[in-house]
Amino acid sequence: MKILILILVLGLASCGRETKKKSSEVRQDVSAIYAASTVKVQVFYEPGAEPYTDGPLNLKYWSILEQNLEALFQGSSPSKTIKVPKALSEMSAMSAFNKTSWKIEDVLEMSKGVPTAGSSDAATFSVFFVKGSYSENPKVIGFHITNTKLMVVFKDVIKSVPDQTSFGSKYLEQATIIHELGHALGLVNNGLPMKSAHHDSEHGAHCDNPKCVMYYTNEGTSNMLAFLAQVLQSSSTVMFDANCLQDSQSYTGSGK
Ligand SMILES: [Zn+2]
Ligand SMILES: [Zn+2]
Repeated sequence: MKILILILVLGLASCGRETKKKSSEVRQDVSAIYAASTVKVQVFYEPGAEPYTDGPLNLKYWSILEQNLEALFQGSSPSKTIKVPKALSEMSAMSAFNKTSWKIEDVLEMSKGVPTAGSSDAATFSVFFVKGSYSENPKVIGFHITNTKLMVVFKDVIKSVPDQTSFGSKYLEQATIIHELGHALGLVNNGLPMKSAHHDSEHGAHCDNPKCVMYYTNEGTSNMLAFLAQVLQSSSTVMFDANCLQDSQSYTGSGK
């Protein structure tokens, strides 16, 4: 485990959390998501940018995302069915883009060309795995586009983790998706009302707890190290802290 964590620190300068505009400037409305009874994630990938799916001992990496979504909606009303694909066969291949640099507009444009990506279902989220990197910062791993259900992950950045045989890159990939879905669901204080004060408003829509996946982590800092170390040492794979979980679990979308 120590080796894995060291690799993360050496190999990654950023855990890339970007949105189209500063989250504090764009107020999201997530009430329709929370009113839905099914929350679904669909995954699209460019050839060569396939998500990690199967680990040793029958481990399914996407179960980590599923467990985090189940935690966010635990006890929520109405109760939710969570649908997360686990195997590559449950995800959709796209055509090759072979772009080296992506702008936010490019991601929006791409999504229009992918059937079902722009699902009108209130709580169907689309995660795109592509090659290349973000035009504004090539170290960004992924981002959610504010006020949409669209997220992109830059697989080349994930692959820049030196040791691809370790769990580090797999956890990082899951942590990135979990973080971006957190934003899409209105965390922190960006669509989801806070039950207690935990908004790190200086850093956009992020949590003030370094032990939470919604914490804002700068490039090259030890924050990600400390965070993933804690996740790996705990018996739970839930990466949200109690404050973020509480905001989501208690929100009914009807202002209550
Ligand atoms: Zn973020
Ligand atoms: Zn939090």
